[in-house]
Amino acid sequence: MAKIIAISNQKGGVGKTTTSINLASGLGYLGKKVLLVDFDPQGNATQGIGASDANSKLSVYNLIMEDYEVNQIKKKIQNPPLDIVPANISLAGADLQMAQYDTGKEELLKVKLDKVRDQYDFIIIDCPPSLGLLNTNALTAADSVIIPVQCEYYALEGLMQLLLTIRLVQQLFNEKLEIEGVVLTMFDARTKLSLEVQQEVRKHFKEKVYKSFIPRNVRLSESPSRGMSIFEYDVRCEGAKAYAGLAAEVEKANREEKE
Ligand code: ADP
Ligand code: MG
Repeated sequence: MAKIIAISNQKGGVGKTTTSINLASGLGYLGKKVLLVDFDPQGNATQGIGASDANSKLSVYNLIMEDYEVNQIKKKIQNPPLDIVPANISLAGADLQMAQYDTGKEELLKVKLDKVRDQYDFIIIDCPPSLGLLNTNALTAADSVIIPVQCEYYALEGLMQLLLTIRLVQQLFNEKLEIEGVVLTMFDARTKLSLEVQQEVRKHFKEKVYKSFIPRNVRLSESPSRGMSIFEYDVRCEGAKAYAGLAAEVEKANREEKE
């Protein structure tokens, strides 16, 4: 049965998509069966992994708003070894459309993902940079959340809002939702700021903070333009090592949970 993990932070540019792609890929290379769900209208995860293809119009929009199932929409990728449900700009309209529904609008994604839980070990959802209905759908479908925190000055400011949202979703739609972990991104050990953010985040989230932190690494910012995960683009770079470490931590935590 798949563990469903949402990668969420309403701030843009903190490394959600980079983490979604490379954590999903890392888990795939560990031999896990992985489905990556692009749930951002910008479709960055879809493009970044080389899965945007003008011929196939079906996307996560059709999955949640129409009568389609994951197996009709997912695309299989060989390298990295995973399946992806792509997204494109059509998803931008879903928010307003689902807002009109009387009931069930928070559970549209959950209903579809639950049907394929037995096909995967991990389902990773790349969330949009907002706290609207799309994000609520992701948190309602998920078992847990990984929060990427960028090591910069205002890093913690938006986090309280995210934590409130998580609590609200727990109360209203998904009482089992947990915080899987917090991952520090774009870490620069040479700067005092990165170290300070790390200390602050650890003070608050304690053992939830992953030992693997993601360094600022040019290779990580280049790989999406080639449509590759970091493991195909440059498996030896620091970014690849960091995401391999993160994938191992996530895999281990969930193995121990099952035992
Ligand atoms: P989000 O999905 O939260 O908006 P992204 O993952 O798209 O964030 O990252 C924002 C930008 O920063 C992208 O251009 C991405 O390539 C770059 N980036 C992300 N993580 C790193 C990193 N560790 N080192 C360098 N650049 C990064
Ligand atoms: Mg993104």
